Amino acid sequence: MSPEPSLEPSLQRIRGSLSRLARLPHAVALATLLIISSIISAHSRAAAAQTCGSQGVAVQVLGSGGPELQDKRASSSYLVWEDGKAIALIDAGGGSALRFGESGADMSQLDAIFFTHFHVDHSADFSALIKSSWFEDRKRPLPIYGPEGNDFMPSATEFVNDFFGGQHGAYRYLSELLEPQEEGSYKMQPHNVPASASPIEVFRNDDLVASAVRVIHGGVPALAWRIEARGKAIVFSGDTNGEGGGLVRLAMNADLFIAHNAVPEGATGVERRLHMPPSVIGQIAESAHVKSLVLSHRMLRTLGKEEQTQAEIRKRYSGPLTFANDLDCFPVK
Ligand SMILES: [Zn+2]
Repeated sequence: MSPEPSLEPSLQRIRGSLSRLARLPHAVALATLLIISSIISAHSRAAAAQTCGSQGVAVQVLGSGGPELQDKRASSSYLVWEDGKAIALIDAGGGSALRFGESGADMSQLDAIFFTHFHVDHSADFSALIKSSWFEDRKRPLPIYGPEGNDFMPSATEFVNDFFGGQHGAYRYLSELLEPQEEGSYKMQPHNVPASASPIEVFRNDDLVASAVRVIHGGVPALAWRIEARGKAIVFSGDTNGEGGGLVRLAMNADLFIAHNAVPEGATGVERRLHMPPSVIGQIAESAHVKSLVLSHRMLRTLGKEEQTQAEIRKRYSGPLTFANDLDCFPVK
């Protein structure tokens, strides 16, 4: 990677210093070398910091994989950037907390967190992110939205309480982040989003508008999300088998549609009841007239089948199509 233009003058100074070093006494030379090496490491840290979404709106894929660790990808998670600030986090699957750090984002930048559902591969790193935020200087509340619960899955409020509730939470030592009566930190504000077959607006502030619709993911309460910022619309399918028309309505005319490529064409049984094959992704992308399509949630059963997947989608949708990898950045133009 070539150095950024802004680093050039500094690097020239370092090169000049190195040539002068040869003429200095040994101890002075050693001290100077130490100073130079600390300057270089500070620069490399800066270069590793936030690079996605410095200007305008962009989506960064924190996790492009599914639940299997052998896919060597973090599980499902996405950041929406606006002018260098990470304004929204969608899902927080295993491995995504590390990617969050690598992205250069801060938890204190987030306006809200939006969960599609509470399977492990969409939520396992939530508590790691919250613990990290404790070391930041966040003052404003952190709204957290997710689906209602049923017999199999907690609601969003239950999920957050199961970790951080003062009485029975697994991490009740951090209950000051949730319990209103406890002092000392900002507060999480969990909300359940009603299961609606038509898109409903859920959250709005100066940065973004978030809408959700119920999607079918077997018996698991699940949502797809639409985030609008600066007149751009990004839609996250979450996990769904694609049944019903809600996702098409939510994704209508989106600038970017991130769909989950969890099963190959021809999948049957449980796989098909939970997930949409490429032909269904292509049909939804076409029906909703989305301007570009990104395929994520890539699993061992779909990795290596990209040509077949692309061919199925191309029968129905002709816009730009990209397969996501961890930390990929998609500016929304
Ligand atoms: Zn999943």
